[in-house]
Amino acid sequence: MPLPERQLIARIRMMGGRKSLIGDDCAVLDPPRGHELLVTTDLCLEGIHFRRDWHPADSVGHRCLARGLSDIAAMAGEPLACFLSLGLPADIPQEWVDEFFTGFIKLAKRFGIPLAGGDTGESPHGVIADVMVVGSAPRGKAVRRSRAKPGDSIYVTGALGGSAAGFERLLREARRKSKDFNRRERRGFAESGKKTQRDPHFYPETRIAVARKLRDIASSMIDLSDGLSTDLAHICEESGVGAELEAEAIPVARGATTEQALHGGEDYELLFTASEKKRVPTLIAGVPVRKIGRITRERAQMIWMVTPDGERVAMPSGGWEHFGE
Ligand SMILES: [Mg+2]
Repeated sequence: MPLPERQLIARIRMMGGRKSLIGDDCAVLDPPRGHELLVTTDLCLEGIHFRRDWHPADSVGHRCLARGLSDIAAMAGEPLACFLSLGLPADIPQEWVDEFFTGFIKLAKRFGIPLAGGDTGESPHGVIADVMVVGSAPRGKAVRRSRAKPGDSIYVTGALGGSAAGFERLLREARRKSKDFNRRERRGFAESGKKTQRDPHFYPETRIAVARKLRDIASSMIDLSDGLSTDLAHICEESGVGAELEAEAIPVARGATTEQALHGGEDYELLFTASEKKRVPTLIAGVPVRKIGRITRERAQMIWMVTPDGERVAMPSGGWEHFGE
């Protein structure tokens, strides 16, 4: 049984420290002078975006907030505050709720933002987490999806496919029904372990610091939440352009396949374009940046792959599938 709302809030305030703003009817935010506000919302549903028997509770909390933070990074913004509305089944152990908040608040603290408000209620079917992140960017400097120009180079941060590879390992493990999984099932939910701590599927990084440095470099930008093929298609669609990728140049995460790097979701790296005239460092805020292709004039928003032997093939867009199936 989870704690009643008032006790839950008292507990969260304790966890959030002095930074926690919960206490009034509204949060009062003070955006930096000359900034515009950025607002993003994300809905995380048990059984669709996570499973309680697969994902440790602190990983679920981390992942819910990471999605919103990554959207702020995609616009080259600074996070200001986050909000969380949580629907909890009546029979969920308070221990799960505590661990969820541990993961959520740990990530919020890392970026120095308060959990500034939210709501709780009973959910008839599974955990529902509705996360909102408010951020800001200097007026006119938020990077959009719609400003990619033919001839711009295409870049990506970090390595891709790590989250999809982690997810497939999880599936294989579940199928094998190892002792560990049976133990987790008896307990009703997964435990956080050494094995998962550094796995990008369970605890993805978000690229706020990298994005900040791209404010005056990138012509367009998006975060890789659905996968390179799908998210590049979003830039092409919004900008009315096509793209050409060098198959060889795409950075594949250790343990991942090229397929996973192209179509796997939830890597939360940044995909951006920049004019050829801009100097783009190969390392930004400690994260490698790779040039992977260029924007073309094609109106049909076609994405081509250039193979090592110079062949040009159309890239199918294979998006991210959720855990539902
Ligand atoms: Mg996004």
